[in-house]
Amino acid sequence: MEGETIALNTNQLSRRLERVAYYAEGYQSLADIGSDHAYLPCYLCLRDAGLHAIAGEINEGPYQSARKQVELSRLENQIEVRKGSGLEVINDNEQVDVITVAGMGGPLIASILELGLEKLTGSQRLVLQPNVASQAVREWLMSHQFNIVAEEIIEEDDKIYEIVVAEKSDSLVTYTEVELMMGPLLIQNHTEVFKKKWTQEKNSWERVLKQLKQGTETIELSNKKEALKRKIDMVEEVFV
Ligand code: SAM
Repeated sequence: MEGETIALNTNQLSRRLERVAYYAEGYQSLADIGSDHAYLPCYLCLRDAGLHAIAGEINEGPYQSARKQVELSRLENQIEVRKGSGLEVINDNEQVDVITVAGMGGPLIASILELGLEKLTGSQRLVLQPNVASQAVREWLMSHQFNIVAEEIIEEDDKIYEIVVAEKSDSLVTYTEVELMMGPLLIQNHTEVFKKKWTQEKNSWERVLKQLKQGTETIELSNKKEALKRKIDMVEEVFV
């Protein structure tokens, strides 16, 4: 990813991708969507000769990088690099046990899942790593009855990343507003990184709120201020 100091070879991933890989290990088949250099499937396939993977890429440049990397790693018999958008690179009735979508914004990840709904059989684990707006991912998961089974928050190179792991549930999945925003599992465990992320967010919302208070009052402005205040209150309640 841009701006990320990545020890980029397929034996040693960035910490962010290494943690994504951790949740995708131990399965027989994987699809990594938005694979870029295919580092994630290469890393996993080098550690597990029985794993078969699809590296999906929409853009020509990253698609060619992925092909090159797979060739360099001599993993052509384990990894198929396919060009296409989102889950369309998975063929109908093709067995895929785990789908990874990492390094994109939450709304893009949610739209990839939504557009690829017919490929989600319900048996696949989803390992999602939104760079921003992870709430959009959790909202999508809840509305499609996916249970969040693991979550992690990490810091690397001054950036904070969240990883959300989900599996289809037989029963109704409900999360509260604050759980959707901060993560139902992350919220139970106030790590230093979690505190840092939400302190930064709260400070930035407070700055915006201060500026908005100087504007001429309109319904739109008033709604914006209310929404910000609500988010600030939610964060404060979590940390009391
Ligand atoms: N997954 C890698 C990682 O986490 O380091 C690469 C992240 S990179 C920032 C995002 C990649 O997703 C880009 O290579 C981009 O071309 C690809 N991408 C964006 N939208 C996509 C889509 N709808 N389907 C497949 N790939 C997509």
